[in-house]
Amino acid sequence: MFGLMQDRPLMIASIIRHAARHHGTAEIVSRGVDGSIHRQNYIALEARARRLVRVLQQLGVQPSGRVATLAWNGYRHVELYYAISGMGAVCHTVNPRLTPDDIAYIVNDAADVAIFADLTFVPLLAAVAPLLNGSVRAVVMLCSRAEMPDLPLPGGIALLCYEDLMAAADENFDWPEFDERTAAALCYTSGTTGKPKGVLYSHRSTVLHAMAVNGASVMGLRPDDRAMPIVPMFHVNAWGMAYSAIAAGASLVMPGRHLDGASVASLMNAERVTFSAGVPTVWLALLHHLRASGERLNTVKRLAIGGSACPPSLIEAFEREYGVIVEHAWGMTECSPLGVYNTYRSDIGDTPEAKLAWRAKQGQAIFGLDQRIIDDEGRVLPHDGVTAGNLQICGNWVCSAYYGQEPGSACDAEGWFTTGDVATIDQHGQMLITDRSKDVIKSGGEWISSIELENLALLHPDVAEAAVVAAEHPKWTERPLLVVVPKAGHEIDPEAVLAVLRGKVANWWLPDAVVVDTDLPHTATGKVSKLRLRQKYRGYLVERGV
Ligand code: AMP
Repeated sequence: MFGLMQDRPLMIASIIRHAARHHGTAEIVSRGVDGSIHRQNYIALEARARRLVRVLQQLGVQPSGRVATLAWNGYRHVELYYAISGMGAVCHTVNPRLTPDDIAYIVNDAADVAIFADLTFVPLLAAVAPLLNGSVRAVVMLCSRAEMPDLPLPGGIALLCYEDLMAAADENFDWPEFDERTAAALCYTSGTTGKPKGVLYSHRSTVLHAMAVNGASVMGLRPDDRAMPIVPMFHVNAWGMAYSAIAAGASLVMPGRHLDGASVASLMNAERVTFSAGVPTVWLALLHHLRASGERLNTVKRLAIGGSACPPSLIEAFEREYGVIVEHAWGMTECSPLGVYNTYRSDIGDTPEAKLAWRAKQGQAIFGLDQRIIDDEGRVLPHDGVTAGNLQICGNWVCSAYYGQEPGSACDAEGWFTTGDVATIDQHGQMLITDRSKDVIKSGGEWISSIELENLALLHPDVAEAAVVAAEHPKWTERPLLVVVPKAGHEIDPEAVLAVLRGKVANWWLPDAVVVDTDLPHTATGKVSKLRLRQKYRGYLVERGV
């Protein structure tokens, strides 16, 4: 056929090349481990990324070779993202909150040839290094010569200094073009069921995801934005923001390791942050800090919240008390990660109740991705906003097979990927997650949504965190048990929490027990670990004869 359009490969390096040419004065602001602030504009970022390719070449990194990072959100980590993928190798971000055993398993499984690590992780590296099986030849510390730590490593693994290597290298490198289906980045799922599994992103999937995320009805960043990814670069590429923000010419403000409410608020105000993204736990902490200190958010307009269900009370509080719009988002490692995003539209009604009802759902599928729900027999279920089913997705940034597995093996015959989430979808395509399939509570054969109960429990003024799990029950098989953590200095009367729930859900949904605990267990990605909570409370009702 004559007259077709050009066909240029979608390359990750084109993002920084574009940013250096068109948004050269936009900057990455990084807060170091010691609280110091470092600034670097996108011209310098692109030049340093080219210099870093020369370093990688000297270290013997080959195209398609895997290079691990153990690092917080900061400029050197961004340099690694672009240099590693830009030379055709694979940037493997490792989650430092995993155990040394899991980290060693992941690094060995990926056969990483080098690990680039922040100084905070020296003790972790000391624990991991003896468990490595020979692929890693260098540990490069992301620091200057003066900051180099004392870290004994097994024979065959060199300890090197990032800034020394950079100073000795040149920038003589042109970003190559190659097949856009080449692997660019690798991220392991948190492994709550069995061993962690690798998800391998391609240049094509990464660029398409970045373009989709920059759409006006998604994060929609612009050059005037100063975006702060609180979600770590080791958790699904900071939701793609290290690509999408730079492609849009927005500046990046990188918070480093201090993510408590006071640190986040002060950096947001000092660096005039307009947009930020992270999991609900971080925003709950920020909200508590703001309320307790009286501090305001001077420039933040929008917060994207996802990774776990965002309680409507949090959405409402940020808007009413601080004028900040919360945009709920859903995604997963296997989906690069964003699949669904919640943007308010005025035609659904502009009463506060209508707005909140819309915003409380996870959102609509981002253009480029499709979603549906099926029952346990694989029958497609209606999008009526009531029927709940197993959520499936497909699209160009959805995993087709886990790392090292047969192409297509993660999907069904029609190419749908089953997410493991249970959801409803309404006539607008608005999706609401009601549970993780393995967290679902089945009482007498009927499903009870743990998320809905948790959201209601958070309406009680003294509740800081809430989680509902299934506990064994002699008659109903399972019944919901609510665990609540009080706010600092407050006490909780379980009856008062139940009173908040009463009348808002069917009576048979009411938890059989409300337990006050001092803390909830969290996973390496900051989510409540329902697995560990279930283990703790599984027999609670039976033992007490509730
Ligand atoms: P991960 O791969 O670690 O990012 O975890 C993905 C899982 O997090 C999803 O399958 C959901 O169970 C959960 N998740 C992500 N975003 C949300 C959200 N907005 N509401 C409820 N659950 C979410």
